[in-house]
Amino acid sequence: MEPDRLRWRHSSEGSFTVNKLYKRENNIMQEEELKIWRNVWKNIAPTKVKCFTWLVVRKACLTHEVLQKKGRVVVTRCFLCNETRETNNHLFLHCKFTAQLWNMFFSLTKTVWTMLEHTADLMSCWMKRRGSKSKKKWWRIIPSCIWWSVWRKRNGRCFEDKIRSVHDVKWNCLETLFFWCKQNCIEEIEELVEFVGAL
Ligand SMILES: [Zn+2]
Repeated sequence: MEPDRLRWRHSSEGSFTVNKLYKRENNIMQEEELKIWRNVWKNIAPTKVKCFTWLVVRKACLTHEVLQKKGRVVVTRCFLCNETRETNNHLFLHCKFTAQLWNMFFSLTKTVWTMLEHTADLMSCWMKRRGSKSKKKWWRIIPSCIWWSVWRKRNGRCFEDKIRSVHDVKWNCLETLFFWCKQNCIEEIEELVEFVGAL
């Protein structure tokens, strides 16, 4: 019988080396990246929306935060809540206006969710959903749909001084999701109300 000894459980021989740890961490990071990549690109959203989602995940969307990093002088203020500076994470995840869109979907789908800090974290953790094939397909594009609606609302406010109520934006977000799904996975559902009931 072998005497007791310390073993590192991530190595088959039980021995720890910095080289092995580095390779292991590298693999984990690559898997995370792959998960994000798959969640952004392997879905039924229109191509331009996938490209936009990629920018949001990479924090490359032209928010005030990015413009400032590029050296532009901007007086930054979130166009949706007017309460704090406009950063990628605030606009797409934590703004109280955007939170209402997230909460609408979580409540319609009876999902318990704690909001993450970064858009990339959200995309990496966006869970798979059980259910029919079509349910899995529309579930995957909810982040893109919310971000697309928020960005359009933000740009309307920024460039055209359009003010739209949160109710309008919520409804528009559902219509957008319905429209994308209608072309791909829910041919049998004719009405938006019926679609919302099936979420
Ligand atoms: Zn805000």
